[in-house]
Amino acid sequence: MSNTIRVGFVGWRGMVGSVLLDRMTAENGFDGYEPLFFTTSQVGQRGPYLSGINVPPLKDAFNIDELKELDIIVSCQGGDYTNEVHPKLRAAGFKGFWIDAASALRMNDSCIIMLDPVNREIIDNGIKNGVRDFAGGNCTVSLMLMAFAGLFKHGLVEWISSMTYQAASGAGARNMIELAVQMAHLTNVTAKMRTNPAGVNALDVDKAMTAELQGTTIPRMNFGVPLAASLIPWIDSAVENGQTREEWKGTVEANKILNTKKNIPIDGICVRIGAMRSHSQALTIKMTKDAPLDEINDMIASAHEWIKIIPNDKESTINGLTPAAVSGTLTIPVGRIRKMNIGPEYLTAFTVGDQLLWGAAEPIRRMLKIALEHVS
Ligand code: NAP
Repeated sequence: MSNTIRVGFVGWRGMVGSVLLDRMTAENGFDGYEPLFFTTSQVGQRGPYLSGINVPPLKDAFNIDELKELDIIVSCQGGDYTNEVHPKLRAAGFKGFWIDAASALRMNDSCIIMLDPVNREIIDNGIKNGVRDFAGGNCTVSLMLMAFAGLFKHGLVEWISSMTYQAASGAGARNMIELAVQMAHLTNVTAKMRTNPAGVNALDVDKAMTAELQGTTIPRMNFGVPLAASLIPWIDSAVENGQTREEWKGTVEANKILNTKKNIPIDGICVRIGAMRSHSQALTIKMTKDAPLDEINDMIASAHEWIKIIPNDKESTINGLTPAAVSGTLTIPVGRIRKMNIGPEYLTAFTVGDQLLWGAAEPIRRMLKIALEHVS
């Protein structure tokens, strides 16, 4: 039996999985072990192209006997897959690391939600104590904690109300493609009038687009309604108190990631918007005291190397605090920081982050690196 460390990747072809592969390629993340690729639908087909690595054909992601021989499994496949395979695998004696993008295991006592720039100590202690299940947090929760880790660290947060503006990519590859198709559909119906040499009549363009948005021909298989040129103030399923599951995750996941002694309430409305990639959030933060604004800025800025404070002026904001500016980068800009007229203990701020990076793939890539240090 060889001593080569073997890491299995499931769900590598989805949105989170492909961004993870990109990041791993950029950071030499496949060095030092044998990567194996699994699929739920394409067994035997060709795996991803990785320069300098001979990737064998895709293996069956439901084959427990094969999976249990691995040292580490990274799954970006989704909660249904985790719910089906993870219990069988542990029951079959799998003792390795399970690193997951899905929410299925997150709230289990035996699972740590990983976001190492914020909770590295909790991860290290967990590994020491035998924890082997790690799940990435909900994307908006992880991005909020990345943005405001400094305020939490200094005990300045009493509660937060967060209003989110979440991109199509948060719903997966098929939804992203549907947004692009919807955009093309709306563009097509106005194309002719936009090339009219006599000029464009905005009202005609509006009427044509509204007719499409309210008609039945625009593709909507995944979102259920048009997202392009519109928005959807509902993400995921309902929970009992009128929240959506996405909204419910705010308090429970953030407090678990931070391992808070006293629960910090976090609540708001989560909204899907027609951005392709990168989630934004507008926050009202009730602080535990009336801290001066320059100290608040310093606390936010000094939390970690990826924070970028955006000055609260128009030019800086429109150029630096948008999904368009942030997508594809690890930067976490935080701007529009000011005290609210409600009172000196009320702070408002806006943040944007690439949720496929810090909201999903990056904590997984970094967790895999940490796990590899503990496998021999
Ligand atoms: P996804 O894009 O829908 O991909 C999941 C799987 O769907 C793929 O691995 C692939 O599996 C299959 N698939 C079917 N048709 C596909 C197509 N046309 N293109 C690519 N893959 C296709 O899902 P995801 O957004 O990456 O999310 C995976 C998990 O991460 C979920 O649990 C999600 O909740 C969680 N998560 C997502 C985000 C996000 O921003 N998207 C953020 C945090 C957490 P096979 O190869 O086996 O067929």
